[in-house]
Amino acid sequence: MKTELLIDGALQPGEGAIEPVINPRTGKEIVSFRQASPSQVDAAVSAARRAFGNWSQTPPADRSARLLEIAARIDAEAQNYADLEALNCGKPIGCVVEDEIPAISDTFRYFAGICRAASGAAAGEYMEGHTSMIRRDPIGVVAQVAPWNYPLMMMAWKVAPALAAGNTVVFKPSEQTPLTALKVTEILSDLLPSGVMNIIAGVGEKVGSRLINHPGIDMISLTGDVATGRKVLQAASAGIKRTHLELGGKAPVIVFDDADISEVVEGLRAFGYYNAGQDCTAACRIYASRKIYERLVSELTAEVSKIAYGLADDSANEIPPLISEAQLARVSGFVDRASSLAHAEVTVGGSAAGGPGYYFEPTLIAGPRQDDEVVQKEVFGPVVSVTPFEDDEQALSWANDSDYGLASSVWTSDIGRAMKMAAGLRFGCTWINCHFMLVNEMPHGGLKASGYGKDLSVHGLDDYTVVRHVMLKH
Ligand code: NAD
Repeated sequence: MKTELLIDGALQPGEGAIEPVINPRTGKEIVSFRQASPSQVDAAVSAARRAFGNWSQTPPADRSARLLEIAARIDAEAQNYADLEALNCGKPIGCVVEDEIPAISDTFRYFAGICRAASGAAAGEYMEGHTSMIRRDPIGVVAQVAPWNYPLMMMAWKVAPALAAGNTVVFKPSEQTPLTALKVTEILSDLLPSGVMNIIAGVGEKVGSRLINHPGIDMISLTGDVATGRKVLQAASAGIKRTHLELGGKAPVIVFDDADISEVVEGLRAFGYYNAGQDCTAACRIYASRKIYERLVSELTAEVSKIAYGLADDSANEIPPLISEAQLARVSGFVDRASSLAHAEVTVGGSAAGGPGYYFEPTLIAGPRQDDEVVQKEVFGPVVSVTPFEDDEQALSWANDSDYGLASSVWTSDIGRAMKMAAGLRFGCTWINCHFMLVNEMPHGGLKASGYGKDLSVHGLDDYTVVRHVMLKH
């Protein structure tokens, strides 16, 4: 198992404190290794700074070729990456093999393609006797910090556009799930010039904090918690650094009485509980028309009770455990508080599933009110609430009544109603009659406390560039 860091083109052991990596299925240690020391964080930033000059001037076709090779090498070792991700996160192997690894290599291929196809305002004489042109240049050294829910995928979403745009990178995976990032070092050290890509591992409060506060970086990109986003903004304020924040979510799902309820139930079973709800777009906050509320609760309860997890035959498992003991305690707390409400009912699940491992029962809570904690706060577990609404206006205002603004969905057979809702919803994404579908060509990112900046798509590439005006006097 690879546990070395990648700094300035060299694989080297960490020199900081020893930290364990835990298997969430068993609660047992997978491996322990030394995290990056403060001087290794500094060395990674210095290496990225030295590499920036050449990499930023490497023609897009050459950068693209290297990203394509990274994609090919990941595909060639797809099973090994999937096994490692499944081990570290407790994910069912089928989900990683089918849903994650192909999307990860495709992210590298997508950015390899679009970095050769920049577009924008035409150069021209916008003032008499002068020619103006727009340049899109890389920003510099980007510090990137990733979460634990889709470790290698979040890395791809950050690293591929940053490198494609000509930046150099210092990347830190979550201390809970560093293993795939520490394996991909072998590909990156082979294919990229020294210092272009550096990977350091360690705890957020120490290694992460030193990285985001480093004077040698030009931009900070975080996918993580809102509280960590605030720390990034504080760190960025000292040097007026660019930031890119993908924070939490609490996706509303509006189900009208004219929706195909069987499809809704199937969609919610899949996308409310996928990855045990440890997903910032999880379909977790359902608003159901009063006319179909009872039916939806009853059919969804029956389906959720069938979700398979924790079985010895992993091919039958649909969802993983939670990532950690702390996350299990956090999710249990939300559900305990919700189940003590007189007006809400836990119709299925409601408890930790018992060890070994950090499993929580897939849970449905019927009837919580708009201002209840479980409707307002991100649980990040296999917990979905259903609240009845009376009319379209109430559904829209409740959906928008959230600190978050990442993802949302509307389920109806009336196209006009769907479009009106989509126009009124204040979320980075609105799905109609589906939920959770992401493609590399379309942007992903939020509003409000969900952060700002886009992952994926041409907008993701643009976020790792700076627009410059060059004007020439004739
Ligand atoms: P987290 O904020 O605790 O950790 C994320 C990363 O930040 C980790 O690498 C961690 O080590 C690092 N970190 C923590 N404190 C730091 C500090 N003081 N300085 C620098 N780095 C620090 O979040 P998490 O628990 O790993 O992930 C769950 C959160 O991420 C959820 O809120 C979820 O909604 C969000 N998320 C958002 C998206 C999105 O696209 N919007 C995607 C996935 C996860």
